[in-house]
Amino acid sequence: QIFMPLNFLGFVYREIRGSLANIENLFSLLDKAPKVSDKLGSPDLQVSKGNIRFTQVAFHYRPDRPILEDLSFSISPGEKVAVVGESGAGKSTIVKLLFRFYDVTQGSIQIDGQDISEVNQQSLRKAIGIVPQDTVLFNDSILENVRYGRPDASDQEVQQAIDLAHLRSFINSLPDGENTQVGERGLKLSGGEKQRVAIARTILKRPPILVFDEATSSLDSQSEKAILDALKEISQGHTSLVIAHRLSTIVDADKIVVLDEGRVIEQGSHQTLLDQHGAYKKLWDTQQNKRT
Ligand code: ADP
Ligand code: MG
Repeated sequence: QIFMPLNFLGFVYREIRGSLANIENLFSLLDKAPKVSDKLGSPDLQVSKGNIRFTQVAFHYRPDRPILEDLSFSISPGEKVAVVGESGAGKSTIVKLLFRFYDVTQGSIQIDGQDISEVNQQSLRKAIGIVPQDTVLFNDSILENVRYGRPDASDQEVQQAIDLAHLRSFINSLPDGENTQVGERGLKLSGGEKQRVAIARTILKRPPILVFDEATSSLDSQSEKAILDALKEISQGHTSLVIAHRLSTIVDADKIVVLDEGRVIEQGSHQTLLDQHGAYKKLWDTQQNKRT
């Protein structure tokens, strides 16, 4: 079942390579999202500072099952905000809504004061770079897979992105270096390696807003460190939203939003939340114990 859309994606990719470049639009195909449509003549999103605001957002995929309820939080320009919570709490759904794969059922999401449902999707998706939980690699060389972030980037920019994403030594270890074929019909990459490719793509894309959905599968600590280093480099001075599974990766966030069954139950800095001795503290203690 899953193979069909992947093959289809490969087909789409070959068709449009070099012309349209928006990898995240392809993800929406996989997600089988009902198409959200732009309002007639909707203007481009103008990103000035990169302020994001969710106001009393409610959302459901199916009416009988609410996913998010009365969700409010904001990210100030340049801030890094993390969303944490149990699996199924609705974290990835927040990312999908910000990217407008779906329209909210109630409430609104604004970027620099503009409701994202009032601007055209192309300009919205250009402004946001997503490093998804599971990156799709195309059946092509690893170099082309990175270049996909911005097909008209110069060779030098592509090489720079590879370095910043800490992909260099991995590429050097491949049989044909950067020309090694990857994807379904080539070399299969691990979750951590794929994420670094996605980070390199995002570096090339240079979006003002960054979203990072951490992999659930536990990475070895070396890959984790490489990814965190890469992430720190690209998120410098950018508004960023990080969906975190491992709390150890977001202790430095400006704000942590704790989600439970689609509602915000706590928010604050790591230390503030620890001092509250609530859900975050419980989650933290559990993960600390697992590590030792
Ligand atoms: P998290 O990222 O916190 O693990 P998700 O946002 O992926 O959680 O999912 C929240 C809930 O929404 C889950 O119960 C999940 O099964 C459900 N869900 C996610 N995607 C869809 C979809 N496309 N259609 C229906 N239900 C979905
Ligand atoms: Mg998720």
